[in-house]
Amino acid sequence: MHPSSSTGDTTPSLIIIGHGMAAQKLLEQLVALSPDRQLPWAVTVIGEEPHLPYNRIQLSPLLAGETQADDLISQQADWFSLHGITRISGDPACQIDRAARCVETASGRRIPYQRLVIATGSRPALPLPLPAHLPQALDANDWPPGLMGFRDLRDVEQMQAACRTGAGHDGNALVIGGGLLGLEAAEGLRKGGLEVTLLQRSERLMNRQLDDVAAGLLEQELSERGLEIITDAHLEQWLETPAGRITGVRLKDGRELHAGLTIASTGIRPEITLARAAGLACQRAVQVDGHLLSSDPHIHALGECCEVEGETFGLIEPIWAQIEVLARHLLEQATPPYRNAPLATRLKVSGIDLYSCGELMPHPTDEVLVYQDHALGDYRRLLLRDERLVGVVLYGDVSAGNALFEALKAGTPLTAIRNDLLLMPAQALAQLDETPSGPPNDPGGRATHQNTASQHPDRDTTPDTFEEAA
Ligand SMILES: Cc1cc2nc3c(=O)[nH]c(=O)nc-3n(C[C@H](O)[C@H](O)[C@H](O)COP(=O)(O)OP(=O)(O)OC[C@H]3O[C@@H](n4cnc5c(N)ncnc54)[C@H](O)[C@@H]3O)c2cc1C
Repeated sequence: MHPSSSTGDTTPSLIIIGHGMAAQKLLEQLVALSPDRQLPWAVTVIGEEPHLPYNRIQLSPLLAGETQADDLISQQADWFSLHGITRISGDPACQIDRAARCVETASGRRIPYQRLVIATGSRPALPLPLPAHLPQALDANDWPPGLMGFRDLRDVEQMQAACRTGAGHDGNALVIGGGLLGLEAAEGLRKGGLEVTLLQRSERLMNRQLDDVAAGLLEQELSERGLEIITDAHLEQWLETPAGRITGVRLKDGRELHAGLTIASTGIRPEITLARAAGLACQRAVQVDGHLLSSDPHIHALGECCEVEGETFGLIEPIWAQIEVLARHLLEQATPPYRNAPLATRLKVSGIDLYSCGELMPHPTDEVLVYQDHALGDYRRLLLRDERLVGVVLYGDVSAGNALFEALKAGTPLTAIRNDLLLMPAQALAQLDETPSGPPNDPGGRATHQNTASQHPDRDTTPDTFEEAA
């Protein structure tokens, strides 16, 4: 049953729990697709955060002082009244009563639904080992003072306050996790005036997205800016005051690092507390089908709290694709199901351009095309399998990133432009007629370029979240 309300019935019939990026975009898409931009049913969105909806992605530029908090707001309060949407903020949903088809909030509101969308996103995951005095479970919600994640506006406010007070200690901050989020946090805090040490468990930064060379270039650039980076850093123990305040870490190699503020960006945990308690089928996240439908025919899940064919999400692009499907499905418009697809990643640190998509670890028979201009600081590594692009790493000049990503997704045979592909990727791809993708050709002539497949047998594969895996 779709959420069309019966005649004259003003009972809210579509509820969205969570008012983050996915929920807001879904609302906007529902409005855009509705006849005369009038939603056909009453809609309530329940947000735990007290703010108007904002662009979470822009929290990094906000921390770095490159934008203002007001510029992050995606819609003002009157947008909701204009479209007849009831917005509840600062009042988390605390129970889904599936039998009564009703959602209860912390303040005691009980709101009935005909359709429910769960869009509760993720929480930062605490790095292991957990501080000794915390319950030894990953879902510990109360982080000890001195240790925090980087997820919402309140976190940025806290980090900005720490920058103003020199982290209440000696001006030192630690960031644990050298993925995209950790790097953006570290650069933001450094720009805020703190002495920042970044700890990365892997032997290189962004180990899910970058190969050794690109990661080395990145590390060199960040170190020259003043960031201290320690790779191969394995956490042994937290340093704490008797009152339980985190004051640093001890590494397995015996080094102790002291800091007034420690940011953990070592992964995310889908927020599925309500869904699980309501008995919905969950693995790592709420399990949904291609129309984002959960195991309950009245309940959908969307964004970082859902899981499609075993995959969870940590980047916005697949979530936008999910919204296209879900909005049409809710409005009873025909739509093909959502399908998982390759993703591209970029770092939002000003002055550093990198682009990565597809696979990182070459198969033994893959060709690895490598170009490097030391003077300009440009680096390109293209991974070809059967004359088709399967992985891209760009550092410096990333202008060809999108064109390469499109070729990768389309599975376009690149035989005709092989000679120009590495030196002038964008121009070479532009020359290609729209070549239909099909089964791989006989690979025929092998590359004359460097094949490094056997040199890096331990590389990770597809980058797919904004954070380093926990
Ligand atoms: C600092 C930062 C930078 C990022 N940069 C990028 C980037 O450059 N590119 C990219 O692709 N991705 C980026 N991401 C990831 C991107 O922001 C997320 O993928 C996206 O926000 C996920 O949307 P969502 O709606 O699923 O979750 P969220 O945006 O987290 O929204 C979930 C909302 O649900 C609320 N909620 C949870 N439980 C309840 C409850 N019980 N009741 C009511 N409300 C509840 C939460 O408070 C939150 O407001 C970044 C993330 C961060 C934190």
